[in-house]
Amino acid sequence: MPQCIFCQMVAGEIKPAVVYEDDLTLAFRDIHPQAPVHVLVIPKAHIANLNELPADAPGLAAALFDTAKKVAALEGIAESGYRTVVNCLGDAGQAVDHLHLHVLGGRRLHWPPG
Ligand code: 5GP
Repeated sequence: MPQCIFCQMVAGEIKPAVVYEDDLTLAFRDIHPQAPVHVLVIPKAHIANLNELPADAPGLAAALFDTAKKVAALEGIAESGYRTVVNCLGDAGQAVDHLHLHVLGGRRLHWPPG
């Protein structure tokens, strides 16, 4: 899906600030960070949103969270604490139609989110 901006990153056509990469996932810095650490974790395969994550691919969900944990460790926020967020569709404000998990930290985060 070449028109998907995150797929273009996976393909190397757009070069984000990569934090971590493995066979299944890519993690890169958000272009508009909402915290000192704000990294997006995506599956390399195009999955539009959380609803589309195949139920028979539990390994992929585990891989996404495993990458989030690695990002937190690499960014030095594993012990202080961090938040993972997945926005799904309109009411949640999903702006990019490629499943992504936000990893936010490096400051005290507010709750509840808006
Ligand atoms: P959403 O609202 O869909 O959950 O989050 C999409 C995120 O992608 C936003 O935080 C936005 O700043 C980020 N984003 C959108 N376009 C780009 C881009 O071209 N590069 C990077 N690094 N982040 C992007």
